[in-house]
Amino acid sequence: MKKEKKYLVDRFADIKILRYFVSDFESLPVKQKLLIYFLSEAALWGRDIFWHQNCEEGLQLRSFLEQVYIYKKRNNGGVDASFEKYVKQVWFANGPHHHYSNDKFAVGFSSEQLHLWAKEAGVESLLSEDIEKLIFDPQYKPKKVSLDANSDVIQNSSVNFYKGVSQIQAEQFYASGKGHPLNSRLCLTADGNLQEQLWTENGMYGAYISRIIYCLREAEKYVCNETQGQAIRLLIEYYQKGEPAVFDEYNKTWVQDKESVVDFINGFIEVYNDPLGLKATWESIVELCNTSATNKAKKIANVAQWAEDNSPVAAEYKKANVRGVSMKIIEAVMLGGDCYPSTPIGVNLPNADWIREQYGSKSILLSNITRAYSEAASGSGSLEEFAASAEEVARHKKYGRESDDLHTLLHECLGHGSGQMRNGVSLDALKTYGSTIEEARADLYALYFMADNKMIELGLLPCKEAAWTHYDSYMRNGILVQLARISKGQKIEEAHMRNRALIARWSLEKGRQNGACDMIVRGGKHYVVIKDYEQMRQIFGSLLREVQRIKSEGDIVEAQNLVENYGVSIDLELHQEIIERYEKLDIAPFSGFVNPVLTPIITDGQITDVDISYEEMFDEQMLRYSQQYSLGVW
Ligand code: ZN
Repeated sequence: MKKEKKYLVDRFADIKILRYFVSDFESLPVKQKLLIYFLSEAALWGRDIFWHQNCEEGLQLRSFLEQVYIYKKRNNGGVDASFEKYVKQVWFANGPHHHYSNDKFAVGFSSEQLHLWAKEAGVESLLSEDIEKLIFDPQYKPKKVSLDANSDVIQNSSVNFYKGVSQIQAEQFYASGKGHPLNSRLCLTADGNLQEQLWTENGMYGAYISRIIYCLREAEKYVCNETQGQAIRLLIEYYQKGEPAVFDEYNKTWVQDKESVVDFINGFIEVYNDPLGLKATWESIVELCNTSATNKAKKIANVAQWAEDNSPVAAEYKKANVRGVSMKIIEAVMLGGDCYPSTPIGVNLPNADWIREQYGSKSILLSNITRAYSEAASGSGSLEEFAASAEEVARHKKYGRESDDLHTLLHECLGHGSGQMRNGVSLDALKTYGSTIEEARADLYALYFMADNKMIELGLLPCKEAAWTHYDSYMRNGILVQLARISKGQKIEEAHMRNRALIARWSLEKGRQNGACDMIVRGGKHYVVIKDYEQMRQIFGSLLREVQRIKSEGDIVEAQNLVENYGVSIDLELHQEIIERYEKLDIAPFSGFVNPVLTPIITDGQITDVDISYEEMFDEQMLRYSQQYSLGVW
């Protein structure tokens, strides 16, 4: 029986929860399923580490909230809506602060109400003074991460990487380059010394880390190849010793295993949540290679030289020898720690620059995650609201996903790697405009080559129309839709958004002069209409030529002109209109995911197969994880 694939699982506050599906899991060889299963268990055992890293009282808070939630669900009248919303927000953020804005959540219930519910549930004793302050006092730990340069960023952040330590003390401690900056908590001891609490098997988080190690040992029995086996052994050694040198060895080995069908990220990796950028949050992704999509990416990387030779860029700024970046397109099978429930759609690791230079890096795109996003978006009404005609809508439904995917591949595999700097011009000559110009360059490369006959020849697109669909959506998004994500009165700040505005608005201006495109008003609403797609392609090409020149020559004056004139400010009336049109659609700005459920099939005491299912709801999954993968609170 074929089950209907429903993507939307839950919706609360500014969040929607989606499902992702793993193509062809059922038909994998049992050995690969077992490898996935044990790597997934390792991914789930790190959940509480991340909660504790986010906020020292996070696990106490979660345990208390969950017990009230469970009691109210089962008994007298169910859960109060404002309480349910808060619990789900805390679950989603892995703590009491918003995952994106870093601000502490406000609650819609009173302390009296909470005490009453806690009493009913028999857990009033768990409602300690600290937990009460965490929930109700807006002054107590107001920010997860503070980047306010005029204050002590450690004292003002609720993340739990330093204990009793000031920013200056921490900076001095690590100034020498010694110690374990990535995988420890730095504490002030009773006798006034600074001491690192290492995150190792016998150190802090040891109970969790030893379970992760157990799962990795089991996984090692089913590895895809010897290099992967060696990588897992080194990761275990790192979890045991915590030494930076072992982590380097692990990364070198891991990055050289490019062929494994099943791969993983597991450990203390990204440092975004530490205001000093030193301490890493724990995260994991278990990956299954999407072979047909990865072959597409290879095909694109293979035509890198052809693209460079045929690009509209001035000959002097083309690379004589260009290598395409080969990307691995994967299906996520399990997300954990800092990658769950909110997840990245692409990852490039390892982070150490010197390892990347000597041994390369691994780039992955999470194709089933982007698939879930676009499937969920297709029912939101946004396309119907902002597209200029019914034909545009129909065509987008037919080709939109395919052409969006191709754009991403062209951008990543060819765009960023193309072009040649003029001798003596520094890579960071464009200063703060550099990243917007660089993203524009990669996007324009993708836009230009997407409509080349070569894409059809290579079997990467079915027809020209598919490329034209992408032109519609790129212009529609850059000029109209993306403004909905910006608050009224604000300007465009983020580099990718600036780049899209820059390309779309510059091209609209040129297109209006030669009749290639136009912006029209119908019934008080703005729409972008493309009239001549081939001419549109030439416009993108001419901007690509100019943007490459700016980068190659380090022409900061023109970079500033382009970005400031086309990529930053927003017409107030248009902005207001877009916000109103978008609000009517009631679309949650943030999304996250529930994981599939992997169940081992046991015959005669041996795991002989692994079953996958997708029925679990968001609260069910959260409560199950807290039961199965938690060892109580600190
Ligand atoms: Zn990019």
